[in-house]
Amino acid sequence: MKPLLITIDGPAGAGKTTVSKALAGELGYVYIDTGALYRGVAHEMLVRQVDKDDEKGLAALLADLDLRFERRAVDLRLFSAGMDITDRIRTPAITMLASAASAKPAVRNSLLELQRRLGSEKSAVFEGRDMGTVVFPEADVKFFLTADLHVRARRRYEELAGTCVGSISDVEMDMQKRDANDSGRDIAPLKPARDAVLIDSTGKSVKDVVDEMLAVISDAAGL
Ligand code: C5P
Repeated sequence: MKPLLITIDGPAGAGKTTVSKALAGELGYVYIDTGALYRGVAHEMLVRQVDKDDEKGLAALLADLDLRFERRAVDLRLFSAGMDITDRIRTPAITMLASAASAKPAVRNSLLELQRRLGSEKSAVFEGRDMGTVVFPEADVKFFLTADLHVRARRRYEELAGTCVGSISDVEMDMQKRDANDSGRDIAPLKPARDAVLIDSTGKSVKDVVDEMLAVISDAAGL
């Protein structure tokens, strides 16, 4: 099969990360979590104390932004200026700041080039919000993965178990706010590409969803 570029977009908690990793594993492809890059920017904003409305500060931060991925076994680690920040970017504060920062054109433009470079070799599964619409409009196969809001909130709550989050309804409220930010922004809003295959993962197992995707990919590859 010729090398393909596969994109998976969708709202928070739809199962994109789990499914993308499993799909990439099945295909022997690399998996790239683009949300981690926005989280990496938010991490730097917190470290450097740059407010989201400080355009100059943000421009300076983006000018020396040095984000890289490194693969460690099945894990993808994110480094900022040589420091492994993977375990620091999942806090609620970074989650909400990443969402606010991602509405800034300067932030999106600076990450666009990096993402396209990472996708230049194909044989990759990219997950995010605007993979099929903006970053890789020419992707070979595009998916848009959704799930019922309550199901997404429960999944995210279970993922965060043990860390200091509030109740499920707090997680659901944050998620709803983030979805509204992501879908309502002017630049690269969260929406399915016109040629995306929509999959609702409510009530489906990871295997169900991955099998559904593999069938679509086989069709697209003419197998
Ligand atoms: O996917 P994840 O929840 O880690 O993404 C964090 C935030 O980064 C999202 O809420 C969204 O605002 C932003 N994001 C984006 N475009 C992407 C990936 C993530 O705007 N391609």
